[in-house]
Amino acid sequence: MSLFRNARFVRSVHDLRDLPPADGVEVAFAGRSNAGKSSAINTLADHTRLAFVSKTPGRTQLINFFELPAGGTLVDLPGYGYAKVPDSVRRHWEKTLATYLQTRPSLAGLVLVMDARHPLAPRDRMMLEWFGPTGRPVHALLTKADKLSRSAALQTLRQVREELAAYDPQYSAQLFSSLKSTGVEEAEAVIGRWLGHAPETDIKKPQAKGESPGLKTP
Ligand code: GDP
Repeated sequence: MSLFRNARFVRSVHDLRDLPPADGVEVAFAGRSNAGKSSAINTLADHTRLAFVSKTPGRTQLINFFELPAGGTLVDLPGYGYAKVPDSVRRHWEKTLATYLQTRPSLAGLVLVMDARHPLAPRDRMMLEWFGPTGRPVHALLTKADKLSRSAALQTLRQVREELAAYDPQYSAQLFSSLKSTGVEEAEAVIGRWLGHAPETDIKKPQAKGESPGLKTP
């Protein structure tokens, strides 16, 4: 069962005073515009085009909240660093994002979506600087991994893991591709853990008495 399938759009927030009550557990997705954040969220949501809500005109500069059926909230943060926006707008967003990341009590972890070909750009590092003092975990989703050869992708993964460890040894990273739907289970395991969901285990049905292989009934 996909973690985000049947997620329900709750609200868009422009100002911090409009945030929903922090009474649940949240996981936020951040990334530079065009990094592949919407595609990654939609892939994790099993292609239900969840994050395209966040891409509708008028919502791109908003923090979008989605309630997950199994409990918890997915928070889609506005993409940063691409469009040329007036300084005053950029400053408002930087302040809003920084404050949200630093002070939101229900925020359990940050998924940092980065194009595997251009990881840890200055603005990605800014997110890490803002979020670091909370002591909560970061998971880097290195997406568009299909655009790299296997060896180049693994080399990038190694480098990113090393650089993240310098921020905090508990930070993690993985390769991801929305195009090929790879890395979904790994991402779900991390995010599910943050949200307090029990890991999906391959629980076999208990065998009926006398069916145990190798146990012959006399
Ligand atoms: P966002 O701005 O971060 O939400 O980025 P989008 O999800 O809209 O993706 C930006 C562009 O990258 C789009 O043209 C996507 O089709 C493409 N893209 C996103 N993820 C992948 C991926 O995993 N592989 C490839 N090859 N392209 C991708």
